[in-house]
Amino acid sequence: MSVVGVDFGTLHSKIGVARNRGIDIIVNEVSNRTTPSLVAFGPKQRAIGEAAKTQETSNFKNTIGSLKRLIGRSPNDPELEIEKKFLNASLVDVNGTVGAEVTYLGERQRFSATQLVAMYFGKLRDTTANELRTPVSDFVIAVPGWYTDIQRRAIQDAAAIAGMNILRVINDSTAVALGYGITKTDLPDADHPRHIMFVDVGHSSMSVSVIAFSKGQLVVKGTGYDRHLGGRNIDYALLQHFAAEFKEKYRIDVLSSQKATFRLAVGCERLKKILSANTEAPLNVESIMNDIDASSKLSRDNYEALIAPVLERIAAPLQDALAESGLTIDQIDSVELVGGTTRVPAVRARIQAALNGKALSTTVNQDEACARGATFACAFFSPTFRVREFSIKDTNHYPIKVSWDRASGDPDEDTELVVFPRGNSVPSTKVLTFYRKEGFEVHAEYAEPNTLPGGINPWVARFTAKSVPPDPSGDFTCVKIKTRLNLHGIMGFEAAYAELVEEREEPAPMEVDGGAAENAPPKKKRAIKKIDVPFIVGATSLDQSVIEKLRELEAQMHATDKLVQDTEVTFPSLLATCEWPTDDMIIALQDRKNALEEYVYDMRGKLEDRYAAFVRPEEKEKLLHMLQEAEDWLYSEEGEDANKSAYVAKLDALKTIGDPIVARYRETEERPRDISQLRQTI
Ligand code: ATP
Ligand code: MG
Repeated sequence: MSVVGVDFGTLHSKIGVARNRGIDIIVNEVSNRTTPSLVAFGPKQRAIGEAAKTQETSNFKNTIGSLKRLIGRSPNDPELEIEKKFLNASLVDVNGTVGAEVTYLGERQRFSATQLVAMYFGKLRDTTANELRTPVSDFVIAVPGWYTDIQRRAIQDAAAIAGMNILRVINDSTAVALGYGITKTDLPDADHPRHIMFVDVGHSSMSVSVIAFSKGQLVVKGTGYDRHLGGRNIDYALLQHFAAEFKEKYRIDVLSSQKATFRLAVGCERLKKILSANTEAPLNVESIMNDIDASSKLSRDNYEALIAPVLERIAAPLQDALAESGLTIDQIDSVELVGGTTRVPAVRARIQAALNGKALSTTVNQDEACARGATFACAFFSPTFRVREFSIKDTNHYPIKVSWDRASGDPDEDTELVVFPRGNSVPSTKVLTFYRKEGFEVHAEYAEPNTLPGGINPWVARFTAKSVPPDPSGDFTCVKIKTRLNLHGIMGFEAAYAELVEEREEPAPMEVDGGAAENAPPKKKRAIKKIDVPFIVGATSLDQSVIEKLRELEAQMHATDKLVQDTEVTFPSLLATCEWPTDDMIIALQDRKNALEEYVYDMRGKLEDRYAAFVRPEEKEKLLHMLQEAEDWLYSEEGEDANKSAYVAKLDALKTIGDPIVARYRETEERPRDISQLRQTI
């Protein structure tokens, strides 16, 4: 089992793996440590991650981002209006959930957000497998602490569609805390924990957590969120500002054109980053529209005035987390910053001001802490990778209640109960008791729907028992239902059993002194017998049959992508069609061409030297001849510009002759060496 942790970001994701006795953040096909969270559709294939980013400008209508903001939402969720400000593709209803409509393979097609996330997870899986050179199926994924049951289940469905398995859906700020705590060797005793506040301001949301660390454990004491506060809100404020300015200056309405808006947004993000380190920054957008090259500049002071409404909102989540923890700011030992947007000086200043001037610290890696933590969380599941024991006590953010119909006519009988209040530890199991004579239903839902994100469905799950076994006494049967808020923060009904009271007559014990026992009455003994109650559970996860269908469809699209890359992509085609050559295609093609070239030179040299004693003369002659042919082909017009399959096929043909030679060499050369090494170590 490989150990993989993913920080699924709005803008981009990061992947951590455990190897070489530590945790590494891996690089993707273009050597970046982050992979854009984008999925795009083209006339022949999909482009995902870096490839999607490369073609975004020319194909923005078929490029979908904000994946983690869309998954788990219904098509009429009012918060989708907010998401639309940051999206270019059109959102549609796909079987009752939100999805996107795109042009793919020349046709209009619809994919649900769950499918889009599955496509993206598949890309992360391939990137990881490529780096580790082994198939990857298990991973831990970090999601916002404000995700609800339906969002978490949709993430699991997406993984299942991608043929993967999530060992834990971990809250992102908890992952950051784990990565921090597990490496500390000087943590105090549980009586005097060290309190750290983590503040993560990313691209679309802000998360704050207050954590108590002590030897071998972390306890989440309080959390605070603003689901709509991040770098993209700053970009948006800048976009509005410059659009207004250009209306005056150039008489163009940038916002009336999707393409121009997209270009200006790219310019604004760049300008924002420059302003993090400079007091003034230029903005240049070439041929923004109507052949106009637009330019402007912005000073730090004006910038901060423009984004004031965004900055205003920073204090609230900090105060929420602190209030829930029951601590004062003086009791917090350190405040750690995470997320790209904490690089904005005004954001830092605002955080500091809201915390009474407390010093801010950046000892954790702002961009990678979350992925590292998720990877540690994954390592706990691994039988081979050993990590220090560390217990995580996370908490529930939204209270969950269960409700039922009265069984008796008693109007005073309760019909609902909050089973998992806010702050309840996660995971957690609770047993509910019902007295019933007939089958019954229990519904689980969020108790305070108005605190949930947007129009998220507050319904969680339904328990149905068709019947209950009768109690021998003729009374109501005592039915116990086990409910669990599991490791992923997902609630379910796990077991149900009836507790039947049986009265058994037991013969009176014999008198020891041999006296007659006839007169003693038999004793009645009450025994409780447990009988399973059959039940079914309904929840918001996709049906297994639907998952199977979508998994097949995903596998097909994946195979199509690969086929197109292997057979249709050649160097000239890459250069000719600027719209669809993507970095990973170029790399994949170059890689196979290089492999063939290397083999030709390497084998030719070794046949005269290392392998000389292991090759038969006729074999050598044949292989040398084939190597020469391959070399000539590589430098011919055809070989220069072939497709990936052609390079692979040539190499395979050479290896059919070459591999047995190499194997013979290894047998005789390396085995004795192994043995001698072994002797030395003994
Ligand atoms: P989220 O956590 O909200 O899902 P994410 O994890 O993808 O999003 P991060 O990678 O933490 O987000 O941060 C990305 C944001 O940080 C972007 O808005 C980006 O423009 C911004 N950012 C990155 N570097 C800088 C910088 N030097 N100055 C200002 N902003 C920056
Ligand atoms: Mg993030």
